[in-house]
Amino acid sequence: MSPAQRLPARKTILGVDTPILRALPHRERRMVGAWCFLDHLGPTQFAPGDGMHVGAHPHIGLQTFTWMIEGEVLHRDSLGNEQVIRPGQVNLMTAGHGISHTEDSAAEGARMHAAQLWIALPDAERDRAPAFQNHPVLPVRPLGDWQVTVLAGSALGATSPAQVFTPLVGLELLAPAAGEVRLPLDPGFEHAAMVLEGEAWVDGERLDADELLYLPPGADGVNLRSSGPLRLLWLGGQPWADTPMLLWWNFVGRDQAGLEAALADWNGDSGRFGTVRPGSPAPRLVAPALAGVHLKA
Ligand code: MN
Repeated sequence: MSPAQRLPARKTILGVDTPILRALPHRERRMVGAWCFLDHLGPTQFAPGDGMHVGAHPHIGLQTFTWMIEGEVLHRDSLGNEQVIRPGQVNLMTAGHGISHTEDSAAEGARMHAAQLWIALPDAERDRAPAFQNHPVLPVRPLGDWQVTVLAGSALGATSPAQVFTPLVGLELLAPAAGEVRLPLDPGFEHAAMVLEGEAWVDGERLDADELLYLPPGADGVNLRSSGPLRLLWLGGQPWADTPMLLWWNFVGRDQAGLEAALADWNGDSGRFGTVRPGSPAPRLVAPALAGVHLKA
């Protein structure tokens, strides 16, 4: 029997009408390496006059990692950055001790397709000063007649410029047509795959479009097959060895007191999260109450 684990993603809605498949965290698998959150947004076509608008909200203890496939999103943050992210680019926001931002479609009535991921920061880095970077160019390497974009970490002799703080990898594999390749893997990493477009088999297991396939550490390679054009997201990382992570709303912490403090700081506008550069039409979000919630480590 294959050691692979199938994790069905949850269908949800971001904002008013942006369809999302949320693959991480999953009840049976909260992280893959330090990757602790994965939303597959779209592909979707917004109605005329409509778009994605996420009002000001805070983050702590993590990096937000946005991979844009179709459409353009305007990011504004409390460090004063205003950055359009375009297809083929990564936006990497390191929240550390605290940052806040807004995300808006750059144009209404457009198509949108993206992956939004979070990377948990290790104990030694989780209180670092916030930072933001746009990476307009990521390295691309051939793998047979497939094309591999190195979004994070290193693969096939290339290294992403995105700064991460634990050993991990993030790839997008593009197949032009039906075919098969062997992707070399770091046997110390656990891995996971999610189809973004098309149909894929991972070591002979067919992936449905709405699930994450998890592979435990130990393999030095994996056979990937497509039945036609394919876009596949590939994640990996050293299994999390730090203090168990708690994830609540937009926060990654280590204990309930730390999360309560972040919630109070945001809702009370203590100054910890700065002031987001103005411009978004969406209202500031209110952090939901944490009281009574049972947090699982
Ligand atoms: Mn955010």
